[in-house]
Amino acid sequence: MDNPLACKVLSIQQLSPTVRQFRISYAWSDQFIPGQFVMLDLPIEAKFTTRSYSIASAPNSEGWIELCIVQKPGGPGTAFLFSQVTEGTLLQVSEPQGKFVLTDTDSPICFIATGTGVAPFRAMIQENLKKNGALDTPITLVFGNRFAHDILYHEEWENLAATDPNFTFIPVLSRDENWEGPRGYVHEHYLPIAEANNTYHFYLCGWTNMVREAKNKLKSLGFSRKQLKFELYD
Ligand SMILES: Cc1cc2nc3c(=O)[nH]c(=O)nc-3n(C[C@H](O)[C@H](O)[C@H](O)COP(=O)(O)OP(=O)(O)OC[C@H]3O[C@@H](n4cnc5c(N)ncnc54)[C@H](O)[C@@H]3O)c2cc1C
Repeated sequence: MDNPLACKVLSIQQLSPTVRQFRISYAWSDQFIPGQFVMLDLPIEAKFTTRSYSIASAPNSEGWIELCIVQKPGGPGTAFLFSQVTEGTLLQVSEPQGKFVLTDTDSPICFIATGTGVAPFRAMIQENLKKNGALDTPITLVFGNRFAHDILYHEEWENLAATDPNFTFIPVLSRDENWEGPRGYVHEHYLPIAEANNTYHFYLCGWTNMVREAKNKLKSLGFSRKQLKFELYD
């Protein structure tokens, strides 16, 4: 990794049973485009020591970014982050990377995420709110998880949906017996949106299976490459 910055962990917050948010100092905190990620070069025994994480907060002049990271069973990178890293730890962090950014904000937008795949969308939504006070384009977030306690930033999304008419939140749970909201997998919940309006731009983020399936389904409905952007986490 070229010229990494040594960045201090400022705070760590448990967001769900398996996900932690790391707020870290970052000199380029106002010099990235929402949707981009950083790479951490970790002191781990592995062939490849870098791991990528989407920035989950909007650019700011306060000198920090937030990452939300799920612990992967048996994964050396997250084992290190969850067992060795505390407030004050210095991490080696790359400059902002990636092209998963908003390109056409004149069209309605549908974000589709599972788990920590919601991170880049939080940065994009926060940035839009910061610039305009309220969302300047209709945004739907279709967010898939297993259980209610896995819904990252749940309150933030609910509050925004209650106050901003441009924001629609569709939390979909696959395994929660007590859930009275949308159930199953994300696909059955964004398809009606896609079928009703072919001007949508879809942004997909998370693990390969969900993203590939969604991309194929939307392509077969006639959505063009320009209308489909995706970021794979594995
Ligand atoms: C663009 C991007 C953004 C991401 N954002 C997030 C996020 O916001 N939150 C989150 O929880 N996770 C995110 N991930 C996943 C994250 O980078 C790690 O894969 C995850 O934390 C698991 O790491 P691990 O070491 O615990 O597990 P492991 O399964 O051991 O690590 C898998 C990772 O190791 C590296 N690796 C292993 N073998 C090779 C190889 N042959 N060649 C190159 N690299 C290799 C790769 O980075 C691979 O993804 C993102 C991934 C990408 C690509």
